[in-house]
Amino acid sequence: MRTVTPQAYRTVIVAIDGPASSGKSTTARAVAQKVGLLYLDTGAMYRAVALAFLRAGIEPDPAEAERVLDALHVDVDHDADGAMRVTLDGEDVTEEVRAPEVTRRASEVSALPAVREKLVEEQRRIAAAFEAEGGGVVLDGRDIGTVVFPEADVKIFLVADAEVRARRRRAELLEKNGEAPPLEEVLENIRRRDAQDRAREMSPLRQAEDAVALDTTERSIEEQVEFVAQRVRTYRAAA
Ligand code: C5P
Repeated sequence: MRTVTPQAYRTVIVAIDGPASSGKSTTARAVAQKVGLLYLDTGAMYRAVALAFLRAGIEPDPAEAERVLDALHVDVDHDADGAMRVTLDGEDVTEEVRAPEVTRRASEVSALPAVREKLVEEQRRIAAAFEAEGGGVVLDGRDIGTVVFPEADVKIFLVADAEVRARRRRAELLEKNGEAPPLEEVLENIRRRDAQDRAREMSPLRQAEDAVALDTTERSIEEQVEFVAQRVRTYRAAA
């Protein structure tokens, strides 16, 4: 586990929520680095559970989830440059959980109450350990400001036009893989995931009442990172 020098500040919890491909992970990771906090990508944990379901050929239904969840162990760690790694039963699955079929399955699996209960508990446990170790934590997800940490010190809800998100996502895929599906397909996937995340009964994607909405449609990553970092500094200065 990466060691972060304890800061002479009060610990801080930063919640960054928002729809698919709104830049949450990129922003959260950069903010964490800029202000000296640890980073927890909660989506990667849902993806790891989805991967376990896919590997074992388990359908995403409540009874199956109850049956297999106890034996599943999802955890996270950081490498030396602060990048988060996610493990499934001790195996590093950080790259594998980005596969398109895992992405699709993650939205279904994350709607299962048993999965959410287990992962929310784990996220609180991991965040408490990070807080003790590094002075604070930046979490990104869908329900951080509403459910996981309703008392978070800084709450941000990222929004961006779906087409802009699809373009960014496609550019990312092109850069990473040298190829990407047509824009229409990427847009359709984003819309489907958002609809599933907003419609689910337990902890649906929504902006917490006290979260600050940050529309990134016309902002650069640097601008959005600085916007959130400034909120953290303001919080610390007032603490
Ligand atoms: O953020 P990311 O796209 O990696 O998340 C994968 C999936 O996990 C999302 O589509 C969503 O269904 C689910 N998720 C969630 N709650 C979170 C984080 C992710 O339901 N806090």
